[in-house]
Amino acid sequence: MLYVSTRGHADRKHFCEILLEGLAPDGGLYLPESYPKVNEAMLAKWRGLPYHALAFEILSLYIDDIPAEDLKAICRKTYTQDVFGSAEIVPLKPLEEGVYLEALSNGPTLAFKDMAMQLLGNLFEYELARRGEELNILGATSGDTGSAAEYAMRGKKGVRVFMTSPNGRMSPFQQAQMFSLQDENIHNLAVEGVFDDCQDIVKAVSNDLDFKRKYRIGTVNSINWARLVAQVVYYFAGYFQATSGRVQAIPEKVRFAVPSGNFGNICAGHVARMMGLPIDKLVLGTNENDVLDEFFRTGVYRVRSSADTHETSSPSMDISKASNFERFVFDLLGRDGARVKSLFGEQLSATGKFDLGADPAFRQAGPRYGFVSGKSTHADRLATIRDTHKRFGVTIDTHTADGLKVARSHLQPGVPMIVLETAQPIKFAGTIVEALGHEPERPAKFEGIEALPRRVTVIAPDVRAIKDFISARCA
Ligand SMILES: *Cc1c(COP(=O)(O)O)cnc(C)c1O
Repeated sequence: MLYVSTRGHADRKHFCEILLEGLAPDGGLYLPESYPKVNEAMLAKWRGLPYHALAFEILSLYIDDIPAEDLKAICRKTYTQDVFGSAEIVPLKPLEEGVYLEALSNGPTLAFKDMAMQLLGNLFEYELARRGEELNILGATSGDTGSAAEYAMRGKKGVRVFMTSPNGRMSPFQQAQMFSLQDENIHNLAVEGVFDDCQDIVKAVSNDLDFKRKYRIGTVNSINWARLVAQVVYYFAGYFQATSGRVQAIPEKVRFAVPSGNFGNICAGHVARMMGLPIDKLVLGTNENDVLDEFFRTGVYRVRSSADTHETSSPSMDISKASNFERFVFDLLGRDGARVKSLFGEQLSATGKFDLGADPAFRQAGPRYGFVSGKSTHADRLATIRDTHKRFGVTIDTHTADGLKVARSHLQPGVPMIVLETAQPIKFAGTIVEALGHEPERPAKFEGIEALPRRVTVIAPDVRAIKDFISARCA
């Protein structure tokens, strides 16, 4: 399997060549040249497999430069009951008739980013050892991504993590999760500034090509193809669980509802659907930052300014642009790289938006690709958390509430609706208290983490200071 860039001007590459890269050299994102197709015989064979074996089957369709035995071992080591808390790894919880939550949030940091990042940690360690190289991961986080990256890379040979975050602005639980890590290869940098300052610093360091090369600076952001393909697996696992026990000649269809920000999670659903998994609809839910809902309603994709980006109670979806969206548009436009380059390159930089509303291709987003969308607000979130708690005794987090709220406008009798649960409520306890009047339950292993000793350096929002910090630790 070879990978191409969405902007059409990069060499075709194998999986391990793009594993440690970010953007393609032409500024595009990598996608497989074509989507491998699954048939009914394959689905029947995969249905009973444990999660790690299912992951191997799916990943091996996309990875031809890691020997099968090694890839099998990596999957087995990644998706364990010990790390993800249950034999199913992503268990379904039934709500009302035909509606399920799929728990993607039982990993080490209690958010769905663990599903892919844990695999990425093991793939990085494997590939770096094979090449005899090291990598310094530099990132910016406002919460979930940074902690998932740190828990995936802690103790991994050949990898150091330098994670910047806005000092004092993450939730107390998120700060405790990250800063309590004592691993020598994990470095927390609390920048005296806001999240944008952190991102600007990371960009400035990465744009210094000499520094980047000398210190082998890399990233683990959501545009990494390996993260995306790891996420494809839980769409299959959710489908098998929701349709278990029903033997039918024609495969039953399901719908997925996905709380979305950067379009990473739901893009994996799009890939699963392109592979032939019988997904009827992909229901995209946004919060008040409705860049994607606006696109699917109108065909207009409009990047927001920072002043126009709302701080909400589902903060991991507070985005100004959706960094993985270019992948879907590439498919929607019949894989016309030149057109994608003009839209995401020239047009977005010049005007901050593009409009496909009048394009016949845009009208296929629903009928041909299954996308529908909706938006959820703070009031919707509170109401959905309350209602779910009252009717089912289940406490859901704020992001999952956005997904469930939008899912309920797209139910169809007889078609199971699987809502992806992207985080545990304890991560966003403040809003749960607002909705329910009491704290959510805390998993036992997180008792008292706020009191643990912290390993964090407070640092000025200054590119020089960050570079000096990194170079001092890479001697
Ligand atoms: C990252 C995140 C999301 C959004 O996922 P995207 O891939 O950015 O669309 C939703 N919920 C939670 C809890 C997250 O951490």
